[in-house]
Amino acid sequence: MRLGAASLERVEEQRFPVSLTAMTQDEAFLERQARSLPPGFLDGAARTFQFSSHSWVLRVDGLVVVVDPCTGNGRRLGQAPAFNDLDTPYLERLAAAGAPADEVDVVFCTHLHHDHCGWNVTFQDGRWVPTFPNAVYLFVEEEFHRWDPASPAQHANSFNPNVFDHCVRPVVEAGLAKVVSLPYQVSPSLTIESATGHTVGHAMLRLASEGMRAYFTGDAFHHPIQFSRPELHLPGCDDLASAIETRRRLVRRLRDEGAFVMPAHFPAPHYGRLGLDGDEVRFLPGGAE
Ligand SMILES: [Zn+2]
Repeated sequence: MRLGAASLERVEEQRFPVSLTAMTQDEAFLERQARSLPPGFLDGAARTFQFSSHSWVLRVDGLVVVVDPCTGNGRRLGQAPAFNDLDTPYLERLAAAGAPADEVDVVFCTHLHHDHCGWNVTFQDGRWVPTFPNAVYLFVEEEFHRWDPASPAQHANSFNPNVFDHCVRPVVEAGLAKVVSLPYQVSPSLTIESATGHTVGHAMLRLASEGMRAYFTGDAFHHPIQFSRPELHLPGCDDLASAIETRRRLVRRLRDEGAFVMPAHFPAPHYGRLGLDGDEVRFLPGGAE
């Protein structure tokens, strides 16, 4: 699709059903939301959605940018079995989307959970090496230190083990990492801004091109019901109060700017804009050319 002067592709790694009853059991609310959403967002009595793990690939300002390079093949994450031992043709899909690994210029991870940085590296000849040999990998300072075992700011997380050693350190050692403070201007159309909470250094990428705005929001939102109820959440946040405040702020901004939201896990069509239905914020799926 095109967004201003940018072209955009989505590259999927995998999808699987996740129940939303961990977020809320308010059936009247869920039923209202279900009626306004396409199939795949709130299905059946179990209220499942098709959790999609995907990357966004942007071409703009002469750059090929990969946002959130998914989990990777052959990993063992212990407490996250849906992500274990994957064997997907993600890199082939990326190439088919016009972004073969050696032509990627910028890699940006909204945060360093394994499903957003796994393909930073691939396992070759007994060690992890950068997948994108000609790219600059942008890491947000606070997020980088949150996971670095050598940093006093580091704290462990049972579902995200060894992420720094496996997915970040090999990139640093190859000289491809750039640790940035926010806000950070990537190129004339692209800026990285804070979206803290889900993790302390969680950030988003803002695209502004020819009057059009889009926000690649990572896991600030896992599901559209969080647009009308920002307090709802899946387990695993670093700082829930900040995550809720970030969602409130983003909902205002998305509405004020008429911007597209491009999250990391929404079911098809995977992105959209926000509107109002009475007093309730509603997700308007799709809408780009
Ligand atoms: Zn995620």
